[in-house]
Amino acid sequence: MTTTHPRKPVAVVTGGAGFVGSHLCDRLLAESWRVFAVDNFLTGSRDNIKHLDDNPDFVLIEQDVTQYLKVPGSVEFVYHFASPASPVDYGEYPVKTLKAGSLGTLNALGLAKNKRAGFMIASTSEVYGDPLVHPQTEGYWGNVNPVGPRGCYDEAKRFAEALTMAYLLEDKVNTHIVRIFNTYGPRMRLRDGRVVPAFASQALLGEPLTVFGNGSQTRSFCYVSDLVDGIWRLSRTEFHEPVNVGNPAEMTVRQFAEAIIKITGSRSPIISKPLPVDDPKQRRPDITRARQLLGWEPKVSLEEGLRLTIPYFRERLGRAPAAG
Ligand code: NAD
Ligand code: UDP
Repeated sequence: MTTTHPRKPVAVVTGGAGFVGSHLCDRLLAESWRVFAVDNFLTGSRDNIKHLDDNPDFVLIEQDVTQYLKVPGSVEFVYHFASPASPVDYGEYPVKTLKAGSLGTLNALGLAKNKRAGFMIASTSEVYGDPLVHPQTEGYWGNVNPVGPRGCYDEAKRFAEALTMAYLLEDKVNTHIVRIFNTYGPRMRLRDGRVVPAFASQALLGEPLTVFGNGSQTRSFCYVSDLVDGIWRLSRTEFHEPVNVGNPAEMTVRQFAEAIIKITGSRSPIISKPLPVDDPKQRRPDITRARQLLGWEPKVSLEEGLRLTIPYFRERLGRAPAAG
């Protein structure tokens, strides 16, 4: 009697050397998929995927997603996660950000269409801009300034969502849109400017924590394993409308600074810095859709998530001064 060994399904993860992308690669490999990660290391790092060097199911394709994407053989799913993601990064690379969201999404959707693969775009809570509806439901169209400093990112993602819907309607690609809310965890770059690595490294170094504005703006922080679980579950569906994935536990930025000080045992003071232009005043996902559709909700509390993340930042800070 012969035993058949069905081949493993294949995923392409653009941005696979980034923070979220590398955790997604790990999850896919754990689910017995083969993975092609596409990355040009604009904001990602080889360190994030170093542990996969000897994994025969993992292949790195070092290229820019704005160039034609060529992947050998069959592909079952394309996750398009390549894009600068922090306000500091997309502020430094506004054109590259718009290209990753437009040309990059076009190439990733084209690949999915050619390979008859499923597709997911990593969208963002930023499509809601500075929201006038709170908490944010997927039905809210947002309040975005297209010509402000966040416009390059917000509009790139809004265009990417529109393009994704167009490939669903015209080319019948099995598309998915995940709207990711502030997520944190190991492998975030120390100096990407986002509040979690910023406050954590300041607290660990005994430097003042830089709260922007009066710190009354709110965010809701999701631990990366919870996010990746939501992404995985969504990719198994045939659901095409956007789905918020994030942790609804909302707090002010000042409260977050205090939480970081407490958990690190730091003696750092908190100081104020100017509030960046168009910084959203409040943000919290309504996750009713994810709960009902995916049976998903976050499991990791902020305290638990920070206890898993702080040692990573501590270790990075202990390396050479250029670490990050
Ligand atoms: P990240 O910067 O760590 O990862 C992005 C990756 O994309 C990096 O490895 C970078 O090198 C790569 N990349 C950028 N431009 C590229 C290009 N032109 N060609 C090839 N590779 C390119 O950021 P992240 O936090 O992991 O974000 C991943 C995705 O999730 C992004 O699309 C982001 O918009 C989305 N997202 C993240 C969050 C969050 O809180 N982390 C929130 C909302 C949305
Ligand atoms: N923030 C802050 N100090 C910092 C970095 C960020 O007070 O050193 C604030 C920022 O103004 C925003 C929140 O923290 O209100 C989250 O910022 P982040 O850059 O992480 O992401 P955003 O949610 O704005 O995209």
